[in-house]
Amino acid sequence: MRFSWISWPHPSTSVRSVITLGALLMVVAQGMTGYEIWRQYNGTITLAERNLNVLADVLAGEIGRTITGVDSVVEQSILDLSTEGSRPPEQIRRALRDRATGVPAIFGLMLIDAQGQAIASLHSLSPRHHAFALSIRASVAGQSLPIHVGTVTPAPFDGTPIIPFSRLRHDAAGNIAGITVAAMAVQYFQEIFLQVKSKTVTTLTLTLARQDGAILVQTPEGATTKMSDMAEFRLQTRDNGLIHDDDTSGRIVAFRTLRPYGLKLSAAVNTVDLLNQWRSNALRLFLAAVAASLVVAALIWLILRRLAQDETQRATLRSLDTQRQMALFSLDTGADMVVWTNDQGDIIYANPAAHQALGYAPGALFNRTIPDIDPSVPPEAWEGRLNDLRQAGTLRFETRLRTSSGRLITVEVSITLLRVDGRDHTCAIIRDIGAHKQAEAVLAERTKRLEESNAELEQFAYVASHDLREPLRMVNSFVALLARRFGEQMDPEAREYVEFAREGALRMDRLILDLLEYSRVGSTGRPMTSVDLTAVLNDVRQTLALTLDEAGAELILPASPPKVWGDADELGRLLGNLIGNGLKYRHADRAPRIEVECQTQGGQITISVRDNGIGIAPQYFDRIFRIFQRLHGRDRYDGTGIGLAICKKIVERHGGRIWVSSTPDQGSTFFFTLKPVPTP
Ligand code: ADP
Repeated sequence: MRFSWISWPHPSTSVRSVITLGALLMVVAQGMTGYEIWRQYNGTITLAERNLNVLADVLAGEIGRTITGVDSVVEQSILDLSTEGSRPPEQIRRALRDRATGVPAIFGLMLIDAQGQAIASLHSLSPRHHAFALSIRASVAGQSLPIHVGTVTPAPFDGTPIIPFSRLRHDAAGNIAGITVAAMAVQYFQEIFLQVKSKTVTTLTLTLARQDGAILVQTPEGATTKMSDMAEFRLQTRDNGLIHDDDTSGRIVAFRTLRPYGLKLSAAVNTVDLLNQWRSNALRLFLAAVAASLVVAALIWLILRRLAQDETQRATLRSLDTQRQMALFSLDTGADMVVWTNDQGDIIYANPAAHQALGYAPGALFNRTIPDIDPSVPPEAWEGRLNDLRQAGTLRFETRLRTSSGRLITVEVSITLLRVDGRDHTCAIIRDIGAHKQAEAVLAERTKRLEESNAELEQFAYVASHDLREPLRMVNSFVALLARRFGEQMDPEAREYVEFAREGALRMDRLILDLLEYSRVGSTGRPMTSVDLTAVLNDVRQTLALTLDEAGAELILPASPPKVWGDADELGRLLGNLIGNGLKYRHADRAPRIEVECQTQGGQITISVRDNGIGIAPQYFDRIFRIFQRLHGRDRYDGTGIGLAICKKIVERHGGRIWVSSTPDQGSTFFFTLKPVPTP
């Protein structure tokens, strides 16, 4: 059976589509807003340019016509004078008035002779006229062109601001013969400007200036003080045009040149003013786009939240389904039996393991009852069992179930009471412990036999070693007798053989004694008690005092070792053996130093005996604890190889373990564990 319920989380297609669509909507909204702002900007500028061009054309036409009108009056007056010869001033004045009538731009008309003397004027001549005539004469001196437009000046007759428009008369030799001056009313031009301006909404600056930059008429007044600095005046070659002047405060200027009169006309708007409206529109649009984006973002968030909720629900359902599958899988494939019953003891569910263990075909158990399979619960006892369960909730016990073939199997049952649809039900988890029980029984039997044979063996070793000493003693004394009696008659070889026999007998005696000691460990029948290690260690020190002294050894004992649970005599022998070995296997180059330490950790006492002797190679760490195992010949170190075997037996009898760690040529540390005194 294969399960594939594990899948990595990744954004679903719907989540991706919503995010993409939302992002697209936002981009489109921002793009459209940007485009609209750009379009409005362009529209504003283009419209302003077009309007300025039209305005400039209209003004140029209007002002051009006005000046041409003035010029034709002036020219006509000159003609009048030349054809009618010199006439009395009053007549000339009348003629001038006739000419000027109907030309509203003309405010005055004056004739000046070559010397600058006023000859005649629309208004009666006064000294101011003469001064004015002289100033005109001075300003046109050296003038080659016939027409001259002066700067704004007060009119000699009443001080009104006028622009003098002069035309020169030349004689045959080309010298100035006289000047005719028309006073053009500044007011007249201002009215034209105001008329034009009244038709526009934006702030316009209209200027009529001479080509040298002298301002003649301007609305609003004083908008510019020095026209010669303006861009349109710097464009020498161009007469007419439209420019964006970003040098000053930012203007769009349409300009025209009234060529024959050396005049320049300009209509200008301030870009900042012009774009004010556009700017507030753009801000509104931008805010609207931001608001739209926020709305879209909020919508996306809502949709995503909804999708996430749906996904969580789906995941929960998936996980529930998975858990159901897992539960079913455990029931179907588990080794334990699962049996459900109703309150009558009828089996309403049993898993495959139950059918198999009880030897029924799949589903066959559903027609049975608990009394059918558990002989310890006859039908009349069922209710009582159920009541026990009602009180306890859960019961655990061992029983024997009957299989379909009548065989009984030992089982462990854990049964729980549950209420389903208002009725009591039981759910039992049953484990076949037959094999386990059998193994337990076999093990117990084996342990018993082992203990018996061990005891027998120990008894045998004890008896054997004890009884063996008797004949050995006999061998020993007879060999000694032999040596004493016949020693004189023996040749050296025979004496040597007798000596070997004696040594062998002695060694055998020692081996038997050691074996006896080994077999005696634990056979004394003394009970375990609380043992003061300080006393034990001090006894050991006393016993070994002579050897320690001879070897010049240092024995360091723990200051306050803990009390342990054990047999004081055996522990004395154990520590004596280990410390004795530390002395025996000392290094030839240094005085022996043996340190005993105690450590208590996790309810266990570890005692270590460290020496600085010859050390042991790691491959012998296990071997040295076996009986009669030695690493050296007797000629180098005396011994029988039983000391550590006895140590092991003592430690194991105390429920601990013993081991060694060592570095050859540096020293060894023997560790063993003991139990602390149990708390009553
Ligand atoms: P014995 O000392 O009589 O030979 P033991 O059982 O006490 O018997 O020791 C077994 C062997 O372990 C020894 O022959 C010796 O080689 C080694 N041994 C024991 N203790 C030490 C020690 N402290 N340092 C080095 N070797 C040791």
